[in-house]
Amino acid sequence: MRAHEAGALHAEGYGGPPQWLPYPRNVNDLLPMLWPSSVRRDERGRLQVAGVDAVTLAAQFGTPAYVVDEDDFRARARGFRDAMNGAFSHGADVYYAGKAFLCTAVATWIAQEGLCLDVCSGGELAVAMRAGVPGARVGLHGNNKSAAEIEAALIYGVGRLVLDSFDEIDRVAAIAASLGVVAPVMIRVTTGVEAHTHEFIATAHEDQKFGFSLAGGQAYQAAERVLAESGAMRLLGFHSHIGSQIFDTAGFEVAARRVLDLHGRVEKENGVRLPELDLGGGFGIAYTSEHHPRTPEQLAGDMAAIVARECAAQDVAVPRVSIEPGRAIAGPSTFTLYAVGTVKEVELGGGASRAYVSVDGGMSDNVRTALYAADYSCTMAGRVSDAAPMLSRVVGKHCESGDIVVMDEYLPADVRPGDLIAVPGTGAYCRALSSQYNHVPRPPVIAVRDGVARVIVRRETIEDILALDAL
Ligand SMILES: *Cc1c(COP(=O)(O)O)cnc(C)c1O
Repeated sequence: MRAHEAGALHAEGYGGPPQWLPYPRNVNDLLPMLWPSSVRRDERGRLQVAGVDAVTLAAQFGTPAYVVDEDDFRARARGFRDAMNGAFSHGADVYYAGKAFLCTAVATWIAQEGLCLDVCSGGELAVAMRAGVPGARVGLHGNNKSAAEIEAALIYGVGRLVLDSFDEIDRVAAIAASLGVVAPVMIRVTTGVEAHTHEFIATAHEDQKFGFSLAGGQAYQAAERVLAESGAMRLLGFHSHIGSQIFDTAGFEVAARRVLDLHGRVEKENGVRLPELDLGGGFGIAYTSEHHPRTPEQLAGDMAAIVARECAAQDVAVPRVSIEPGRAIAGPSTFTLYAVGTVKEVELGGGASRAYVSVDGGMSDNVRTALYAADYSCTMAGRVSDAAPMLSRVVGKHCESGDIVVMDEYLPADVRPGDLIAVPGTGAYCRALSSQYNHVPRPPVIAVRDGVARVIVRRETIEDILALDAL
């Protein structure tokens, strides 16, 4: 079976809890692996992050709000940096994939922690520039970069452009020549490996929009084209990214083997040295108790072993390796804080029922549940309760029945309007994929560190939304 981006689709849909959701021993307990490291319950039973409790955060900043534990975010970034540098004796680079979540403060944290930054549009590049991330530490991705985006990146002096098509090779060569610069480039390779969550598929061909195919020989041809443009482009090496929310390292292994085979052939047959290799991102995180992510040390160790083995087998020098984690840095550092507006018990037949708990946000601030049938968990954040656990579904305020935030979770049976609910693991692809659906203004992002909370992205207002409308 092909797994979904964020796990197998719910097979039954109605009825009891999914297999992975155990009946809780204590409905107030937190599962530490789902939360930022500083999160705990204080003596009043309130959820607390970096010393600030959820009731205080809600009173000060309103709900819904994304709350990020700044030290946790920074520690995850450093964790990848240190693990990669530990595993690769000649050093390695970690590019934070800004598309997971980017704002000026986050770009600053990434630069301060010694990481590089991956951007995939002129907008993301503008954030990197505003935060002062040095150009040499920025990489530009995208399958359809505009001439303006390419020009802005070259003028800023980005460390790499990742090329995605023959049209783009011509475009970058022309723009670099007109600017009188040599563009440092990588070639994105489609390895025929597609990985999602627990499974991967290795094929000869891959029917998707990104990259140059390996099997069809296009990746090799792209390298020859770039090498022929040596006055305008410098080929750093190849890039491979195989999917997202991956737990199974076998997919990375097959992809790395395939791309290193190409790397070795291009080096030998063209008499060149390719100094770099990028193995992409996609490292899975825990959204619920069903997920068991590997540590950065395990991932980096596996990668170093594969790269060393393949380079030795082909008798080529080990290139400088980079990776691009997005979700694994941003995701677990953040939770979304909502307020409950209504609680409704819905009969499912056969005596079973489910509580529908409506919160003041929804698919506009977290579309992953609706888009990918992603699983999340949640807890009451403003108090603890002695009430029995009740199977619940946390839904939003939007005009869609698919507007679900948490598909299945046990909440105490006395959950009521005014209660606070916190959903962990919302730092990646939530704010980044947010919308103004139903003209619901987007929540702020609040960073908490050492007992101090501050706004790093302010709440959108109705005025912000109306400001775009012409009269
Ligand atoms: C999305 C993406 C990433 C980051 O993926 P995560 O699952 O967030 O780690 C890295 N590289 C490329 C090219 C991407 O498209």
